[in-house]
Amino acid sequence: MMEKQETPSFDGAACPVPLPHQGEIVMGHGSGGRMTQDLIRRVFLPALESPELLQANDAASLSLPAAAGLNGRLSVSTDSHIVAPLFFPGGDIGRLAVCGTVNDVAMLGAQPLYLTAGFILEEGLAIEVLEKVARSMEGAAREAGVRLVAGDTKVVERGKADGLFINTTGIGWIPEGRQVGGEQARPGDAVLLSGTMGDHGIAVLGARGDLGFETRIVSDVAPLNRMIEDILLAAPHTHVLRDPTRGGLATTLNEIAVQSQVGMMIDEESVPIQTAVRSACEMLGFDPLYVANEGKVIVIVPEEEAGAALEAMKSHPAGSLATRIGRITPAPARRVLLKTSLGSTRLLDVLAGEMLPRIC
Ligand code: MG
Repeated sequence: MMEKQETPSFDGAACPVPLPHQGEIVMGHGSGGRMTQDLIRRVFLPALESPELLQANDAASLSLPAAAGLNGRLSVSTDSHIVAPLFFPGGDIGRLAVCGTVNDVAMLGAQPLYLTAGFILEEGLAIEVLEKVARSMEGAAREAGVRLVAGDTKVVERGKADGLFINTTGIGWIPEGRQVGGEQARPGDAVLLSGTMGDHGIAVLGARGDLGFETRIVSDVAPLNRMIEDILLAAPHTHVLRDPTRGGLATTLNEIAVQSQVGMMIDEESVPIQTAVRSACEMLGFDPLYVANEGKVIVIVPEEEAGAALEAMKSHPAGSLATRIGRITPAPARRVLLKTSLGSTRLLDVLAGEMLPRIC
């Protein structure tokens, strides 16, 4: 859809020239959409397959050694952050690196506990910038109630990186009895969304000066674990929690539909989108349903717990605009349907290529 595909040049060749991305990495492989999924299937799973990777969730759910006599399971997730620029309205790479991983760990119904951070620094980066990022990480970790327990620093020559990249790994505890995952959605479940779509992606584009106009859009980057804990207390049979990050709401809903082998009917008009984000998307030719978020969660719950889950979300600033956006259907399995504002119904597909590179 919105991706810019490089057209191979034929120059009078008799056979079609292979697409350039067949043999090498292109930006679309980092989109979080179909190309990322293809890369994982083609390269990583054949080489590194494990039952935990095949869970295909935001984090891996790991059992504790039986001999330890401990209850529950571990949730572990890792994420690298390459956002450009390093600072944007509402956040920076440090806050993003903490919140992104805390949120992925929490999406299995876990209480995030510990984080590690690996820094790749480019020669020439101002120490002052690094200090600011470190303070921001500390603030976000305090907000989430997690501790940074291990770290690593590497430096590469000038020109070999873009200032600063951060990898974080998070570990959390899933209390016994919680069974939350992308494969748990059931027909009849309500699909809830914690707030507006597209704020983060458009805020980063604005900070890059790529919009061509001034905007006050602020990233939603925030730790969601405290809100998630309250959702699970109010709606203990919650089936799915997932943050619509890269690929946006549309791609994330499709991942869940495939994992759970169910259909979905989403009501376009009920998806909250700020007017400024909608206008920016219209000018740029983006669909806000594919733009990344960093402080929002999709919650899929049995109908009888939907009201309680919504109330729990609304009691947090990050969920003040929480709303119901649709329901899980038995068919068409593995498909997401969108009831448009015009009253028609269309297929809501996965993001095909890269729309907004380096926004997280
Ligand atoms: Mg995620």
